Amino acid sequence: MAKERYQRVVAKFGTNVLTAGSDRLDAEVMSALAGQVARLHEEGRDVIIVTSGAIAAGRHRLGEPRERKGVPLRQVLAAVGQSDLMQAYQELFAGHGITAAQTLLTRRDLADRQGYLNARNTLLALLELRVVPVVNENDVVAVDEIEGAKIGDNDNLSALVANLVDADLLVLLTDTAGLYSADPRVDPTAELIRRVDRIDEEIEELAGDTAGRGVGGMATKVQAAKLATAGGADVAVAEGSEPDVLVRLCRGEEIGTLFPAAADRMESRKRWMLAGLSLKGTIVIDSGAARALCQEKRSLLAAGVQEVQGAFDRGDAVAIVDGEGKRVACGISNYGAADVAAIRGLRSNRIEEVLGYQYGGEVVHRDNLVLL
Ligand code: GLU
Repeated sequence: MAKERYQRVVAKFGTNVLTAGSDRLDAEVMSALAGQVARLHEEGRDVIIVTSGAIAAGRHRLGEPRERKGVPLRQVLAAVGQSDLMQAYQELFAGHGITAAQTLLTRRDLADRQGYLNARNTLLALLELRVVPVVNENDVVAVDEIEGAKIGDNDNLSALVANLVDADLLVLLTDTAGLYSADPRVDPTAELIRRVDRIDEEIEELAGDTAGRGVGGMATKVQAAKLATAGGADVAVAEGSEPDVLVRLCRGEEIGTLFPAAADRMESRKRWMLAGLSLKGTIVIDSGAARALCQEKRSLLAAGVQEVQGAFDRGDAVAIVDGEGKRVACGISNYGAADVAAIRGLRSNRIEEVLGYQYGGEVVHRDNLVLL
């Protein structure tokens, strides 16, 4: 069974959905999707859109793609089309009283730990302000020529974003009903696979065989599903033209192909933090802070910090120990060791005055904290 309700949803709209198969953004389709996002938003859910369609929009605006000396065409098209795309979202959401925010990301932004934290903090702050982030890859700077710069397809981008914000559902809307047992365009016996509990070689091969048009075929959807389910999100691949598909999926209806989360959210974060990162230092906290962390599941604030050990940078993983030296948690520090030492014991509203800048009131945000 899919979860009854999902609270934080990443919805990816593919080019074929947004253009309804035509050569331009389809106003009706976009309006219907924005309407669904608005309903989810009104229900109090967090929705993040990952959108394609910039290149398609740019191509349409410039007419026939022209060869341009020295400027790769895709980048030009993306630069032109991204603003059209954003304008379309902004106008549609304004009609629902919702503000949208453009967020352009590249692989390099997320591979770097500090960039990852900055992107995460910004997205979470936007959600807190009830703004709908509209994410796309920054195709203008993320080019093949720069190694490691490019994610390349928005399916994988949407999975990275789902993990970044701890989404509990990732919806990949496309122009087919889901993952089939064979290519439905050529094989009449092809059946829709309703649920994939484990993404094994067989499933990967199937997705490879049934890859659709463009960069975002089934192969990248299965890759994305693997990434996001490992991070603890359920993933649904469904047809964008299905009425109210997004709203129904978020309410727990099973449409298309469901890939249930492979790991419990907290467990997977814990494993990742414990295994994937070495602890670079230690923050000693007082008993009040220990109680706030462990019992009330609160963030670690500067006021509760007693002592700092080791040399860690902003974005590094640290151990958090109580006054008796017992390790109570580990987490990712929003401030480097020298900064934490400088602001220890202070109220959060004094951070800026002391450091001359601030990265938020929390030394370790509760979302970046694993209790032991
Ligand atoms: N970032 C591309 C665009 O906006 C789309 C890439 C994809 O669909 O996978 O046109």
